[in-house]
Amino acid sequence: MSTSEEWTFPDDVDHEAVQDALVEWYEADHRDFPWRRTDDAYEILVSEVMSQQTQLGRVVEAWAAFLERWPTTAALADADRADVVGFWTSYSLGYNNRAKYLHEAARQVEDEYDGAFPETPDELQELMGVGPYTANAVASFAFDNGDAVVDTNVKRVLYRAFDVPDDDETFERVARDLMPPGESRVWNNAIMELGGVACEKTPSCDEAGCPWREWCHAYETGDFTAPDVPTQPTFEGSRRQMRGRVVSVLKEYDELALDTLGPRVRVDYSPDGEHGREWLRGLLSDLADDGLVTVAEQEGETVASLRQ
Ligand code: SF4
Repeated sequence: MSTSEEWTFPDDVDHEAVQDALVEWYEADHRDFPWRRTDDAYEILVSEVMSQQTQLGRVVEAWAAFLERWPTTAALADADRADVVGFWTSYSLGYNNRAKYLHEAARQVEDEYDGAFPETPDELQELMGVGPYTANAVASFAFDNGDAVVDTNVKRVLYRAFDVPDDDETFERVARDLMPPGESRVWNNAIMELGGVACEKTPSCDEAGCPWREWCHAYETGDFTAPDVPTQPTFEGSRRQMRGRVVSVLKEYDELALDTLGPRVRVDYSPDGEHGREWLRGLLSDLADDGLVTVAEQEGETVASLRQ
């Protein structure tokens, strides 16, 4: 594990390639939450406050109902606090204080900002109940004007992918360095999506087609522990670990024939054994399906290379 003082990105990590891979993966497919389809700061703030305590699936219904009832900050500012708290309770949205703060924040926007939401993370933090995380999320998703969001999911991803030490300042610095400038909306959505559907506590690197497999330290080493995952999550076997090894070995060579690749992946590789050619062909074929590897027949030999 690295230590925080001197930590920098490994030399073989090309920031732009890492950024492009993640954004492409996110744009190709992601969970379609309704608040991802709006850039209205009020609607986004409501979704952020609700999501702090409640599973996203349940927030969808509550969010739509809340906005139907109070569609603007002006409408919410005019509401009776008891009604807002009553709504919160009826949808089991957690601490009622959040409802009170949201109500108060709507009044602030109306009274202090003339009905127009502030647009920077610093100003947004002036709103009642809006901490640094929420301010940054609203600035990013509403105004594309935020910093890199760092939550538990993002820490887990960075820790696993780049072996970033478990230290808040370092996470902040690395997340900031990695975010493409001026792209906070898509970037923060994408990295949070990665933590939410691929790099979960038990990761699904291959199944979710994680775009960072070729750089990922955890994928390469098979150590999927993380700050919030202190013990190794259980997998259906070591198959995904082995796929990671294939990728990391192929990174170092232009191409390798099966029997040259095999022993570099497993010390107990033997061409006709249980972990032999047939087994390795299976791994390569999965990796080829995932678009990571190319497998070709050359002069009677099967040769694998990393897809460029
Ligand atoms: S390869 Fe796996 S462990 Fe690494 S970032 Fe992707 S999902 Fe997480």
